[in-house]
Amino acid sequence: MDCREIAPYVEPYGDGELGPAERAAVEAHLTGCRACQERVARYGQFRHLLRRQPREAAPPELRARVTRSIRRSAGWHALRRWAVAPLAAAMLIALVTWAGVHGVGPWSTSRPSSLIADLVSKHATYAQIEAPVEFASANSSEVRDWFRRRLGVRVTVPDYAPAGIRLLGGRIADTDGHKTAYLLYEKGHTLMSVFMVTGERLTPAGTASMTYRGFAYHTADVAAQHGVFWAENQKVFAVISSLDYESLLECADRLRMDRGEDQRL
Ligand SMILES: [Zn+2]
Repeated sequence: MDCREIAPYVEPYGDGELGPAERAAVEAHLTGCRACQERVARYGQFRHLLRRQPREAAPPELRARVTRSIRRSAGWHALRRWAVAPLAAAMLIALVTWAGVHGVGPWSTSRPSSLIADLVSKHATYAQIEAPVEFASANSSEVRDWFRRRLGVRVTVPDYAPAGIRLLGGRIADTDGHKTAYLLYEKGHTLMSVFMVTGERLTPAGTASMTYRGFAYHTADVAAQHGVFWAENQKVFAVISSLDYESLLECADRLRMDRGEDQRL
């Protein structure tokens, strides 16, 4: 078994689903190949996300205040089952005064760029509308085919299901005139948005930078949401959710790896 042949076995191996003969063949290759050992280790860390729960998005008093304000605005019945109430409140209160950046890196008082603000606001908005996705499917390749038909470009649609993060579907959005592929996922009742904006530039104002698995990302906390942003090949990518940063970075890393594989095909 060589590095190419081992590829389809990495995930079943990590899931403990291989029979004894296949398992032995995989392990025989692994003992001599550091690159494949790392692939297996990466998948193990990805699976590890399964065991963690999303943290609370907002303190209880804020949540209560927002819940009341949403009820008053009569939009309550229209809310999805996701944990959007704290987000909506936080958007009302914090959109004007940016929360700055914390969690990783130094505090920053500068404002995130309009692109970052726009993507976070889309994440918040779509979470609250009745039909957040235009094309609903939990199947990555169906969603990828839908984007190819609609946008004429290849959009990588990672499968985060092994980490308990379920794909809900896709939507095509517009970000300041730039076509944007939008993927929506959920973990439990917490939403996660993934954006790919074509032809945009990422300005690091108002973000912290951090390196994860050797790649530099920008991170920003806006309105109780965490965002991980990066640029590659004239595209800007964003993963936004109230999930913890480690989960978001893991999802970002996975997306980058899957994109690399899509481009080799
Ligand atoms: Zn190998």
